[in-house]
Amino acid sequence: MKNHKFSPESLMMSYGYKPELSQGAIKCPIFNTSTFVFKTAQEGKAFFEVAYGLREKAPSEEMGLIYSRINNPNLEILENRLCLWDKADDCAVFESGMSAITTVLLEFLKPGDLLVYSNPTYGGTDHFINHYLPSIGVTVLGVHPNQSKDEIVELIENSGKASNLKMIYLETPANPTNDLLDIEMYSEIAKHFSTAQNKVITAVDNTFMGPIWQHPLRFGADLVLYSATKYIGGHSDLIAGAVLGSNELMIRVKTLRTFLGNMASSNTAWLLMRSLETLKIRMDKQSQNAEEVAHFLKSHDKVESVNFLGLLVESSHQYDIYKRQCTAPGAMITFNIKGGEKQAFQLLNHLKLVKLAVSLGGTESLAQHPITMTHAGVDPESRKRMNITDKMVRLSIGVEDAKDIIWDLNQAFEKVELSNMEKLLKH
Ligand SMILES: *Cc1c(COP(=O)(O)O)cnc(C)c1O
Repeated sequence: MKNHKFSPESLMMSYGYKPELSQGAIKCPIFNTSTFVFKTAQEGKAFFEVAYGLREKAPSEEMGLIYSRINNPNLEILENRLCLWDKADDCAVFESGMSAITTVLLEFLKPGDLLVYSNPTYGGTDHFINHYLPSIGVTVLGVHPNQSKDEIVELIENSGKASNLKMIYLETPANPTNDLLDIEMYSEIAKHFSTAQNKVITAVDNTFMGPIWQHPLRFGADLVLYSATKYIGGHSDLIAGAVLGSNELMIRVKTLRTFLGNMASSNTAWLLMRSLETLKIRMDKQSQNAEEVAHFLKSHDKVESVNFLGLLVESSHQYDIYKRQCTAPGAMITFNIKGGEKQAFQLLNHLKLVKLAVSLGGTESLAQHPITMTHAGVDPESRKRMNITDKMVRLSIGVEDAKDIIWDLNQAFEKVELSNMEKLLKH
């Protein structure tokens, strides 16, 4: 009985918070303060010695509170709770997913280095990798789902920069296609190119699956990143990000965060702590709803095809990765409507309950048209390669009653007029 280990979802209401330090309040108050009063000058000196790495922390010593760009109780408690899901040593929360991603890329990549990254990635990440990093002398090399280990190793060797490889950056499942990348395979590639002086880091953007349904650190990844705006926040009312990993790497991430000053605010951290209390039940319900919606779409005669992890063909390589890497199919669905932009827009314009908006992971269901919205800025050639066409609609499924989501989609499909050609094909 003594060694019972609580599940993360049981600890989200209390872990890391001491009511006796806050007048017995059951919930952690919002620490809206820029600075913290030291009891004595000696204490201030001791806190700074640890914060600036001038000496090692004593075994039982906790890092003292100094200034909210360096540390704040709301951030620290939130970070400790996030560590539980991914079983990470440490976590850093940021004021956006993009600031989490760019801080990691800037810390670990220097002029002359090589970055290997998977396609497609989130639009903002794609822009930073393809436009900003080359401007500071980082070489970037894109890879695609379904390329084999040998093919990728050869691509890296042929780049002439194999000895400068510093990071492999993955986003899986890929947005908006739901294509999966094999995290274990990529971390083996990172090991293959690592030397005693140069450890190649594997970083995974786990926004679509995490932190509930996929745990990249268990498959050899070194860092896991989130847009906490999405499932972690989960209510479409804040922007935030997070990075998790080993103490050794997180010290570097947190140090750069201190100097860029892009940490989350105490208000944002407080809202995220509230969100974490319901994270598991929200995500489980969203995924169950998505399974029902995906099956409805699959049997609809105005739908050409559905991309959903719960509908992967069992003999496929993608299914094999899914079974090893994910514990649920998630709650993101894309489908191709019969016809094109006209039909997709008719559907989107007639939705009543499901909202027409980008972003994802919130409690409400959202629909959007990737080629003209989230992926409008992606190079047309790579869009073609990823099968992002004008027929594609992306859904983020929320926590509503699945019956109502299906009712809404069904009534909107009734407003969709197929072209004569599509009607002929139907018969
Ligand atoms: C939204 C998103 C981001 C960017 O996060 P922000 O919180 O909007 O800065 C990064 N990666 C993925 C997969 C996303 O969906």
